[in-house]
Amino acid sequence: MDLLLDIAEPGQSRKPHEVDLLERGGRQRRVVGIDLGTTFSLVAAINLEGQPACIADDAERTALPSVVHYGLDGAVLVGHAAEAQALLHPQRTISSVKRLMGRGLAELSSGEGGMQTPLQLLDGEGGMVQIVLGARRVSPVEVSAEILRSLKVRAEEALGGPLQGAVVTVPAYFDDAQRQATKDAARLAGLEVMRLVNEPTAAALAYGLDAFQEGEGRQGLFAIYDLGGGTFDISILRLNEGVFQVLATGGNSRLGGDDFDQRVVDYLLREAGVSIPDSRFLQACRREARRIKEQLSEWESVDATLPLPDGLEAWPAGESGRRTITRPQFEAWIGDLLHSTGVACRRALKDAGVTAAALQGVVLVGGSTRVPLVRRFVAQLFQREPLCDLDPDQVVALGAAHQADLLAGNGDTELLLLDVTPLSLGLETVGELAEKIIPRNTPIPTARAQDFTTFKDGQTAMEIHVVQGERELVSQCRSLARFELRGIPPMVAGAARIRVTFGVDADGLLTVSAREESTGIEQSVRVKPSYGLSDGQIEEMLRDALSHGAADLQARLLNEARVEAERVLSAVGAALKQDGDLLSEAELRRVKAVTLQLWEASRGQDATLINQEMARLDQETAFFAQRRMDRSIQAAMVGRNMTDFA
Ligand code: ADP
Ligand code: MG
Repeated sequence: MDLLLDIAEPGQSRKPHEVDLLERGGRQRRVVGIDLGTTFSLVAAINLEGQPACIADDAERTALPSVVHYGLDGAVLVGHAAEAQALLHPQRTISSVKRLMGRGLAELSSGEGGMQTPLQLLDGEGGMVQIVLGARRVSPVEVSAEILRSLKVRAEEALGGPLQGAVVTVPAYFDDAQRQATKDAARLAGLEVMRLVNEPTAAALAYGLDAFQEGEGRQGLFAIYDLGGGTFDISILRLNEGVFQVLATGGNSRLGGDDFDQRVVDYLLREAGVSIPDSRFLQACRREARRIKEQLSEWESVDATLPLPDGLEAWPAGESGRRTITRPQFEAWIGDLLHSTGVACRRALKDAGVTAAALQGVVLVGGSTRVPLVRRFVAQLFQREPLCDLDPDQVVALGAAHQADLLAGNGDTELLLLDVTPLSLGLETVGELAEKIIPRNTPIPTARAQDFTTFKDGQTAMEIHVVQGERELVSQCRSLARFELRGIPPMVAGAARIRVTFGVDADGLLTVSAREESTGIEQSVRVKPSYGLSDGQIEEMLRDALSHGAADLQARLLNEARVEAERVLSAVGAALKQDGDLLSEAELRRVKAVTLQLWEASRGQDATLINQEMARLDQETAFFAQRRMDRSIQAAMVGRNMTDFA
């Protein structure tokens, strides 16, 4: 493995070129980038060639399954070893813990975001979910810390000493509570978090630096399409003279390869005739489903074995336990999931104020982008072949390693990395209105101030209610924190000047302060939202926005189809009036019937049906169009003959 950093402890034997490197870069620090994924986690560092590379385990595997098993004997297993226990001990084996980070039980079980899990969950301290393991309970933060610790040990062995810092990535959609939980997990694992970076941003950095080094692509717009196991992120970025800016982000933190698996699981359950599977059976189905899905990325069809429900010795009808699943079948199951990613992409483009045509490249990130339909879909959506030179599973960790290296001052590249706020931040004003102080997609770190005044005569205190969200009404936004500014000198309404400052640091965490200017009285809060406040509003709002987006698109398609149908109908009407005599009685009846069908469809809500009817009318009237053309050619020739001979 050529992964050692040039930071070996003095006295260790080194090859000559390693010594050179060490001496040249005397400031080198031992830092890593960590992709803490829903399904897989990776750690990467800069290797001797100055390139980021993922660090493998003893079995040469770079991806660590994000699975933790808590044994009955108290032993904790992480990764493949934990995965191996999932079937036997589903209730003691935790996967996709990232979905639980910074969340309360109510949020997890509500609506679409509802998790199907064999785990026993309950609300713990501060309303944050906990996992019950017999007599013991663990928090998602502790579970994530186990994963991080495992990667830390792996990296320290490879790099020959304790780590001095790490950049950890999070989905762009993570809110404050989730980011804070991730940071807590890293701290618990004994890692010094230099920076939390959005996953798509890290991926873009990995690609951006490549372009930078080659002296090309110094300026350009890129879209990063990241479809992993549990999250979907889309980011629109601009690279300009070495400055790397995220223009907009969007996505869905509850959409990924797990959902593809679920569609296959649904099929397996249907075929197995099991409607209420126990957790062991479900795990077996999930495992088989993932295998089928991943193989379908390479093969046109895959043989599946239906898992056996407990207590059955064999499938009653012998061979009935086997099925063949084809790629088109699978593609039909996931089409709507891809469609919803498309809606998010269009929205992000709109937020960024760019068109798909203006992009210079689209980057694929995440294991699920290996599905051929995903690649075709992205190519069609953005009207270009997506880039996938770097391994889509590794690219986030590689970018994080780059970032860690830059923050440690190891490299000599001056690269400025800007990130953005995923949602608008503001506060409540009179009338329960949300006043936005920092709009969504503002590059961070940032600080903005706005002046407010008192509403009543003699008012000596003012409540500052910090909210996050895009909607106008406070009740539709997420409440982040409340605090009170006291000791305002009594004045007439409107005389006091209260300056409220919002600051967002490089990790995306918010600090709010309020100051009464005449007295200098000040109050501030570091907004670390108590987990209990999590009420799912962000998720809901984003889902709202996404589904509105889908509805908007449907409405537009319907409108377009109707306008087109209108045009076709009036053209047919005019043609019948002018040249109806070219048709026999029966033909005329037929054309009228098909026309009527289009007219009826155009009154309905189904754009696809309208388009189908238009195509049919087109087909059925082709002969009529031909006869009309013949007639007009004849007329033209007659006309010409007449003038020619005149
Ligand atoms: P995350 O960032 O959420 O941890 P990854 O980017 O590691 O996710 O992607 C994991 C997902 O990719 C899983 O759902 C996995 O099944 C899927 N995946 C990995 N390889 C393939 C493949 N060859 N075909 C289809 N899906 C794949
Ligand atoms: Mg990922």
